[in-house]
Amino acid sequence: MSIAFDNLTLRYEGFHLTANFVLEPQKKYAILGPSGCGKSTLLAAIAGFMDIDQGRILLDGLDITNLPPAQRPVSLLFQDHNLFPHMTVMNNVALGLKPDLKLTAKDTTAVHQALKYVDLTDQAIKFPSELSGGQQQRVAIARALLRDKPLMLLDEPFAALGPALKHEMLDIVAQIVDRAHSTLVLVTHDPKDALYIADETIFIANGKAYPPINTKALFENPPQALQDYLGETSAKPISLNNL
Ligand code: ADP
Repeated sequence: MSIAFDNLTLRYEGFHLTANFVLEPQKKYAILGPSGCGKSTLLAAIAGFMDIDQGRILLDGLDITNLPPAQRPVSLLFQDHNLFPHMTVMNNVALGLKPDLKLTAKDTTAVHQALKYVDLTDQAIKFPSELSGGQQQRVAIARALLRDKPLMLLDEPFAALGPALKHEMLDIVAQIVDRAHSTLVLVTHDPKDALYIADETIFIANGKAYPPINTKALFENPPQALQDYLGETSAKPISLNNL
């Protein structure tokens, strides 16, 4: 599914962000930029949690600017608060399929398959607080897998995990997205995440979201604002070799 930002302006008091470009279907995008530049705000606008000041957002050409969040075809994953603490792992995952938890036998099979996919079969009847952070995020991924929506939006969901576990999660996400032919938009402040998973990267600086550029090409020849940001985040040049 394509996402078009048509002369979009998003505003908070003392903050504004513009975007005017199109994201193509079935590609993987990263939104990269310094803390506070508006990455989460842009993602929230796609998901419908942010009032749009000017312009429009279109999905596959359809204007969804005023569509309520629940009616948007998105799966969302945040850094925290993805799970309901009073529900078992099984039910947290099942919500992706049936929000009322009225599962048919076929639904139950699908939930078990999703749990198996993220290697959590043994944890099905536990509660989120009994799991590690990485396991909790795998529960959230399993639910996203079952939701099977054409847009997968990730807001730094793996920032708290170590590099090896993070790559494992990103690999699972990439597989799910590829299998479902979804479009992925990943918010990150870490250039390595963008290089790891994103075909193209949207860089945000100084109130502007720049049109997406092939991620490797972007880092091989970074514009000044990105050079400034990379200078702040890393003493070493970023390359695929030091992922
Ligand atoms: P990022 O994800 O890049 O760190 P955010 O999108 O979270 O940045 O925030 C962008 C700007 O919007 C920041 O200046 C932040 O303070 C402001 N902001 C974020 N959420 C709100 C809110 N609910 N009300 C007012 N200002 C907000």
